[in-house]
Amino acid sequence: MAPELIAVLGGGTMGGGVAQAALAAGYAVVLYDVSAAALGRTRERIGGGLLKQGQVEALGRLRCVSELAQIAGAAIILEAAPERLDLKQDLLRRAGEVCPAPAIIASNTSSLPIAALAAACPAPERVAGLHFFNPVHRMALVELIRAPQTDEPTVAALLSFSARIGKTAVQARDTPGFVVNRVARPYYSEALRLLGAGAADAAAIDTLLERAGQFPLGPFALMDLIGVDINLAVTRSVYEQMFHEPRFRPHPIQQQLVLEGALGRKSGRGFYDYAAGASPPRPGPPPPAALEGSALVGAGSWGPAIGALCGAAGLRVLPATEAASPDLRAAFVVAGRAEGAAALVAELDLRLGPQIPILAQCVDITACELAQPLHHPGRLVGFDGLFSDGAITLAASPVLDAGARAAAEALVAGLGRSPVWVADAPGLVVSRVVAMLANEAAFALGEGVADADAIDAAMCLGTNHPLGPLARAERLGYARVVAILDHLWAELREERYRVAPALRRAARVGVLAA
Ligand code: NAD
Repeated sequence: MAPELIAVLGGGTMGGGVAQAALAAGYAVVLYDVSAAALGRTRERIGGGLLKQGQVEALGRLRCVSELAQIAGAAIILEAAPERLDLKQDLLRRAGEVCPAPAIIASNTSSLPIAALAAACPAPERVAGLHFFNPVHRMALVELIRAPQTDEPTVAALLSFSARIGKTAVQARDTPGFVVNRVARPYYSEALRLLGAGAADAAAIDTLLERAGQFPLGPFALMDLIGVDINLAVTRSVYEQMFHEPRFRPHPIQQQLVLEGALGRKSGRGFYDYAAGASPPRPGPPPPAALEGSALVGAGSWGPAIGALCGAAGLRVLPATEAASPDLRAAFVVAGRAEGAAALVAELDLRLGPQIPILAQCVDITACELAQPLHHPGRLVGFDGLFSDGAITLAASPVLDAGARAAAEALVAGLGRSPVWVADAPGLVVSRVVAMLANEAAFALGEGVADADAIDAAMCLGTNHPLGPLARAERLGYARVVAILDHLWAELREERYRVAPALRRAARVGVLAA
């Protein structure tokens, strides 16, 4: 029996990738493009890709055509033509006439409403979105978008096609940005806001998110890789389609770079300069230095972990209730919630000599808030991410003593971590970005874009984040995430920090549900 025929419309970056995946899975493919040059290039690229996969014989099942009528007989039509509504509507309508129902039409659009594409087709119920990620051969995710018109057999057929080409399909409603292009927006936009507010430079923010946040690539390095212009276009498209919802507002820094022609790696400069082919700068690990003396460590859920870390670095660890010993170097406060941390910091301030720095974890409270009531506010250093492998966020209040600053840096280096100073604001860098990703995921959940597992799966597979935003919120604690967002709202008075109703409910009862 002849293999089922797949038609791919548009043989560019994505069409070529999709055609290769279908060929490798045993389908026959007819690839249509208006440009003969594009067809030639893509045929060569597919051949090279299949050769690498050890499946060069599959190239025999590829036909490249420049007349749309030649796609006749296709069971599934996958459209990957340029991102223009009028162009896609016209192309899909004509393709639907060449291949009438039961043929299925799926568009790879990133930003156009599937409903508007379906409406232009002779059989709208046979139309859906099948959104692949670039590069297709490496990214395991497809988003399967069902328009209001899409029928069940169409969804079932595309699910089975996706499985056969080795992709995990996540189903999403036809809404701007679908799952990944929407839920990932805060990763870039919150980093841009931190940069714009002078909280830290791009390299510091990237370092923290990669090393303390365990994201595979910092947002600025990632925007440079994707293309600053492409990233801005996606942001702008979601913003426009959401009728200027403030959470999606683009940032002027990004616009400025695009106007300058600093588009990222492809133009040699973006947030970083690639003129010499260099990678973005990251601090090396601090030189090993054994610590001497003792440290007081406040209780709280992280107490034992920080105690172990200090102990491994050579410090004698004492409970925070202990009287200060002569060799005391610092006190660590890692109390679970803001009120507990503030009470312990105030108590230590009364008990300890003014030269002893107090390092307090700042997740839902800022260093300034902790320092304010103290007799010696200059000793208070905020931190976050002590338990990550690479970098530790340190936050200074404007009254921080030079001695406490130097002592904190030496301690962090002694613990084998790179100290990265950032401005003092709720959630600092990592917890703030994590909270904003979780909030967008919770808005999407509440609006029925996809269910919680699907959102997390899509984000892990589509962005290579090690943990989905909702799983991460659960781990940090829903109440803590909400506290960070409320705190940001209280300090900055920006609509973008309003908490998703589903997340606020989860903070109250501990269970996240749409
Ligand atoms: P591309 O520019 O690399 O390829 C588009 C191809 O379509 C070109 O070869 C062009 O000759 C051809 N074309 C132009 N007009 C045509 C027509 N009327 N009929 C048939 N072919 C025509 O673009 P791309 O990056 O592959 O993007 C294609 C689609 O995939 C877009 O909708 C885009 O939003 C979406 N997408 C892109 C990415 C990505 O990272 N590039 C990721 C996901 C989705």
